[in-house]
Amino acid sequence: MKFKFLQEGEKFSQNTSGKLPLKILTLGGTTGVTKNMTVYEYGDDIIIVDCGIGFPDAEMLGVDVVLPDITYLLENSHKVKALFVTHGHDDHIGAIPFVLKDLKMPVFATRLVQGLIQVKLKEKDMLSGTSLRMVDPEGGPVAVGPFKVDYFRVNHSVPDSCGISIDTPQGMVIHCADYKFDWTPVLDKPFDVAKVSRLCQNGVTLLLSDCLGATTEGYARSEKTIEDSFDSLLEAAHGKQFFVTTVSSNVSRLEQAISSAVKHGRKVVFSGRAIDQVVEVAIKLGYLNFPQDTFIPKEKSRRFNQSELMYIVAGAYGQPESAIGRISRGEHKDIELLDGAYVVFSADPNPPGVRDDVETLIDRLILNGAVVIESEIQGNLHVSGHGLKGDLKLMAALCKPKYYMPIGGTVRHMRAYANMISDMGVKKENIFELLEGDSILLSGGTSKKGERLSLSNVYVDGRLVGDVGEKVIEDRNVLSTNGIMAAVVTVKKDKEINAVDILTRGFIYVKESQSLISDASNVVRNAFSQNKKDYGNKGLFRSNLEKALSRFLYKKTGREPLVLVSIIEV
Ligand SMILES: [Zn+2]
Repeated sequence: MKFKFLQEGEKFSQNTSGKLPLKILTLGGTTGVTKNMTVYEYGDDIIIVDCGIGFPDAEMLGVDVVLPDITYLLENSHKVKALFVTHGHDDHIGAIPFVLKDLKMPVFATRLVQGLIQVKLKEKDMLSGTSLRMVDPEGGPVAVGPFKVDYFRVNHSVPDSCGISIDTPQGMVIHCADYKFDWTPVLDKPFDVAKVSRLCQNGVTLLLSDCLGATTEGYARSEKTIEDSFDSLLEAAHGKQFFVTTVSSNVSRLEQAISSAVKHGRKVVFSGRAIDQVVEVAIKLGYLNFPQDTFIPKEKSRRFNQSELMYIVAGAYGQPESAIGRISRGEHKDIELLDGAYVVFSADPNPPGVRDDVETLIDRLILNGAVVIESEIQGNLHVSGHGLKGDLKLMAALCKPKYYMPIGGTVRHMRAYANMISDMGVKKENIFELLEGDSILLSGGTSKKGERLSLSNVYVDGRLVGDVGEKVIEDRNVLSTNGIMAAVVTVKKDKEINAVDILTRGFIYVKESQSLISDASNVVRNAFSQNKKDYGNKGLFRSNLEKALSRFLYKKTGREPLVLVSIIEV
């Protein structure tokens, strides 16, 4: 047994003299918001907080998700003792099945988060082999090696979110990932300020804090403030088809939408794999309490009077293959968009990097006769799950740590957080803006930056994990913008060319470019004879031919397609 649940007040001997430094290493989540993963290492013990996926940017063609680079953990696998999870968002739990394949350790999480993790493990057939441990934020801490780990409730856009306190031989660390203070949350309890104060009463060495809201003044609004929005929209949409699209993990938002539907005599239909999964977990665990006949399977929805339904569908970020994406193009198997339908976007109006997709989707919905209501137009359709400057300062004041470390934002959010904290009178050198792979070492009341670990993204493409590297992504980008030209050179026994076949796709139209193609063929022939001395070194020989062909094509067309030369001896 590598861990032990402690009773409230039970004595915990750290059994270490505090001589070793505490290393805090970020494997993700500091510069790109997502892929959150933080490592705490003391002597021969490592615990990890969060294990999330990242989302590919527009240039990572064909990549489904991005995983954190866990090479360091694999090299130190004997030290790894446990994973603690703060909340149920994919950028905090999504990589768990991938990481647990290589690293066995117990996973600690609150009730709903555990349910969401179970869904992911089940998909990969890993449920029975995993030690999932439920933590009660109102209960006692967990002891793992020299660490005493405790949970306290925070508020976020998914219920059961928590911050974590880690009592270490080098002092108390508070790890507070995504949070805000909400005194009237929906389906959740308010931020447990009393517990945080108690945990911090003997002083805090370091606070890791969400910083995504550090560029905005004020306090985050309560989830409850949008309670009436669905009601008034449903009244306006009387007699019409009604769609809500939101982020699947936002269980509180789902609850508000479903409650409104019930009030207005509408049944609810879900569409979207992630929404189906989250709803199933939330119903099973009692977070969504509605009579069973509230819900209609989407396959049966056509049989109902459309004005007596509320569709809750995936795709709030404009993903083309999402349910609402397919509905907007008339490609959904079970759901057809009717003229005059209301489509309500209840999600962040400007999520990083997807605004173009959202706008394309909205335009298409409007052209197909929908009345689109989005939170950009109507401000009370969405509240953020992230604290703004007021929330972040309140947390800083509650913890009063010696050192600060912003997490969960981008570089500019980290800098805004650092400026905000320094305005509160904290010395700049006590605020650490770490990039991914950076670490800090805490020892005897002092701190210093550790060496930077060089990390690379691990791409997941279909069933391939890690097989698709940077070079593959680079090639895909060239292919997508400039196409490809391949030269197949058949060589006779006497090492003379038999034939050169030029094949091309996405670069030029072959029928209209015969002269370019025959010139290209001649370039390959010339390069072949000029480089003949290297014929024995196939790699070098081929690469020289490719370079010659690339140079020629660039000179002629100003473009750089992917060029491949293949030598076949006959
Ligand atoms: Zn989150």
